[in-house]
Amino acid sequence: MPMQPPVFGRQPGPKKPWARPAGQPDRRKRGRAGQRDRRQVLEEEPFCRICVDRGREVGSDVVDHIVRLADGGSDARSNKQALCNPCHDAKSLAELAADRVARCDA
Ligand SMILES: [Zn+2]
Repeated sequence: MPMQPPVFGRQPGPKKPWARPAGQPDRRKRGRAGQRDRRQVLEEEPFCRICVDRGREVGSDVVDHIVRLADGGSDARSNKQALCNPCHDAKSLAELAADRVARCDA
C-alpha cells in the first residue's frame, strides 16, 4: 500500500485577493530606494494630510498611495501622501469595501 510522504512547512494555498496578478510587474520601489522615498515623504509632510484637512494636527506615520498601485496608481511622489495610522487604516478599509461592492455588481 503506497503511502504519501509527510509534508512539512507552509503549503501554497489559494491566492490572496490582494495578490498581484501573475505577469503584472511590481511597480513599488523596494529596498533602500523605497526607504529613502518613504522617509522623504514623511519629512515633507510631518502631519497626516487627512487630519490636517479636518483641522487637526496629527503626526504622520505611514506613506500612502493616493491611487493604489493595484488600481494602476504610480509610485511617483505625486501619488504619495503621509497619513497617520488610523486614517490609513480607514482609507484601506474603504478601498477594500469598494472592491467588494464592485465584485458583487460584476
Ligand atoms: Zn490622520
